[in-house]
Amino acid sequence: MEMTNAPMAKPSAREFDAVGLRSVSVFGSTGSIGCNTVELLSQNPEKFSVDALTAGSNWQLLAKQAVELGASVAVINDESKYKDLKNSLSGTNVEAQAGNDALVEAAKIPSDMVVAAIVGAAGLKPTIEAAKRGAMVALANKECLVSAGDILIKEAEKSGASIIPVDSEHSAIFQVFDFDNPESVAGITLTASGGPFRDFSLTEMQSVTREDALNHPNWDMGAKISIDSATMMNKGLEIIEAFHLFPVGMDEIDVLVHPQSVVHSLVSYVDGSVLAQMGTPDMKTPISCALAWPGRMAVSAQKLSLADVGRLDFMAPDTARFPALGLARSALQIGKSAPTILNAANEVAVMAFLQGKIGFLQIAVVVEGALESMNSCEMGGIDDVLAIDSEARDVAQNVIKNLNFKIKK
Ligand code: NAD
Ligand code: MG
Repeated sequence: MEMTNAPMAKPSAREFDAVGLRSVSVFGSTGSIGCNTVELLSQNPEKFSVDALTAGSNWQLLAKQAVELGASVAVINDESKYKDLKNSLSGTNVEAQAGNDALVEAAKIPSDMVVAAIVGAAGLKPTIEAAKRGAMVALANKECLVSAGDILIKEAEKSGASIIPVDSEHSAIFQVFDFDNPESVAGITLTASGGPFRDFSLTEMQSVTREDALNHPNWDMGAKISIDSATMMNKGLEIIEAFHLFPVGMDEIDVLVHPQSVVHSLVSYVDGSVLAQMGTPDMKTPISCALAWPGRMAVSAQKLSLADVGRLDFMAPDTARFPALGLARSALQIGKSAPTILNAANEVAVMAFLQGKIGFLQIAVVVEGALESMNSCEMGGIDDVLAIDSEARDVAQNVIKNLNFKIKK
C-alpha cells in the first residue's frame, strides 16, 4: 500500500442534540489522558453518557470510575484481574468483562464517540473497530496512526468516521487549519518543549536516569510518552501522526522547539499569515475540544495569562543530539511498513530503558538497528500490521541483547 496522507476535508460531526446526550466510551480510562477525560465527563453529566470504560490492569480505579460515571461495561485487559473487577462491581449496573476480545467487542458498542487513550500499538484493534463502525474517534493514541495510519484513515473514510485529534499539537492544528481551502496552507509547524534534556550535551545524556527522563518540565503524562518526549521520538511520532491527519506533504511539516509549551502548534498560509493556537499546558483543553467538537465546553483549566508568561522562546531542534527525530522522518519517507517497525522497536526500547536494561542514548540505537535489519514491505491490512509489529519487537529485543553483549565484553 502506498504511503498516502489524508485528502481530508474537515469531517462533519453529528451535532450535539440540544437536549440529548453524547454517548462516550473511553479506552485506557485509568491512564493520564483517561483520568482527565473521566474528570471532564463526570463534571458534565448533562452533556455525556458513558458506555464502556477499559483499562490494562488497574481494576480498582476502573471499577471506581465505572460506578461514578454509570458506565454500562468495564473491561479489564488483564484476564487475571477479572474476578477482582467482577466482585467489586457486584450489586451495581456495570457489567465486568476481561481480555483482548472483550476490548474489541467494547469498541463495537454504538457509542457516538470513542476516546482512544490506550498507550502503544495495544490500542490498535479497538481503535480500528471504532473507525470501522463510523464512530467519532477522539484519538490520543498516536501510535495507532504511526503503526497503521493508512489503514485507519481508509477505514474512517469508508465508514464516515471522524478522527478528532487529542494530541495537543494536532488539536491546535485541527483548530486553525482551513480544511475548506487546503491549497491556501503552505505548511504546519509542530512545537516541542524539548523535554527534560533540551539543553543537555550528548555526554550528559549518556548517564541520565529513568527518574531524570520521567521528569517532564511542562506536562504530567504516562511513562511511555514522557520517555518519548525526553528522546524527542514523541515529536517524530507526531510528524507521522500529522501527515496522516492533515492534507500536507511530508516536507511541509516542521518542528520548532518552544520551551514554554504555550503555543501548541502553527499553520502557515500562502499569504504569509501564521495562525497558532495557545493555552496553558493542560491536556483537559484539547480533550474537551474533542469531546465537545464541533462545539466547545467550559473547562476549569488554568487560564492563560501571557503577561505572567512574559516571553516565548523558539529554536530549531538539534537532530544530532536527538537522532529519534531523524529516524522518524526517514521512516515516513521510506513508507510502507517502516513506521510500523519504528513504532514497535521504540516501544520495546522505551520499556527496556524503563526496566534499566539499556541506557537513554541506546533507545535510538535500538530503533535504528531494527529499521536497518528489516526491509520495508507493503501491508494490506491490520493482520499484516500486527505481524510486522511482532517481528519488529523480536528484532529490537535481539538488538538489545547484542548491545548488552558488547557492553559486557
Ligand atoms: P498512560 O500510561 O498514563 O495510560 C495508558 C492507558 O492504557 C491506561 O489506562 C492503561 O491501563 C491502558 N493500557 C496500557 N496497556 C494496555 C494494554 N496492553 N491493553 C489495554 N490497555 C492498556 O498513558 P497516557 O499518558 O495517558 O497516554 C495514552 C496515549 O495518549 C498514548 O498514546 C500517548 O502517546 C497519548 N498522549 C498522551 C498525552 C498525555 O498528556 N498523557 C498527550 C498526548 C498524547
Ligand atoms: Mg503532543
